[in-house]
Amino acid sequence: MKIIAATGNKNKIREFGEILKGYEIVSQKEAGFTGEVEENGASFLENAVLKATAVAKALGVPALADDSGICCDALGGAPGIFSARYAGNHGNDEENNLLLKKNLQGKDRSAYYFCAVALAYPDGTYLFGEGRTDGVFMDEPQGENGFGYDPYFYSTEIRKPFGLATPEEKNSVSHRARALRQLYAKLGETI
Ligand code: IMP
Repeated sequence: MKIIAATGNKNKIREFGEILKGYEIVSQKEAGFTGEVEENGASFLENAVLKATAVAKALGVPALADDSGICCDALGGAPGIFSARYAGNHGNDEENNLLLKKNLQGKDRSAYYFCAVALAYPDGTYLFGEGRTDGVFMDEPQGENGFGYDPYFYSTEIRKPFGLATPEEKNSVSHRARALRQLYAKLGETI
């Protein structure tokens, strides 16, 4: 079965394919979707459903989207759904990391990544999965692996900064992998 990935992010498309075994994952661009979807939901899940549903309805085939971010206990869950644009500039990882570091000065450093994935069908129905992975936001970056907040994220689950973890190590505990596995289990139930 073919699933359209409602994202332009190659890393996410690869991870989708690694976990949703037996499904052919095609990027929205390859499938001919060129629109922009406004992420104005109030939760990770709402945003994932918005993105997946827009693509599924436009193309008439099932579409898969994810929405993810980092949440800090001392900041009431911020940056959360605003992780990509925390410092105002969409996708500026360096500015986002520096602002988070500043806002966490002298506070508890507990943090977790959260991810929601949604597989939407053209009739508006959907299946979803959610996952989180725990750690602390460090004061100084370590390593260059991963992306986004990874250089500052020390995983208390693999006892290593994500910036120093291999893709396999990160995938073994990552929020996205966990959300996808939960969705995969639900897909099995519907076949
Ligand atoms: P999205 O693409 O709208 O889901 O935005 C996710 C944002 O959250 C990214 O820009 C990153 O800043 C952050 N993020 C989500 N997952 C990860 C991860 O696995 N590592 C590092 N940063 C992440």
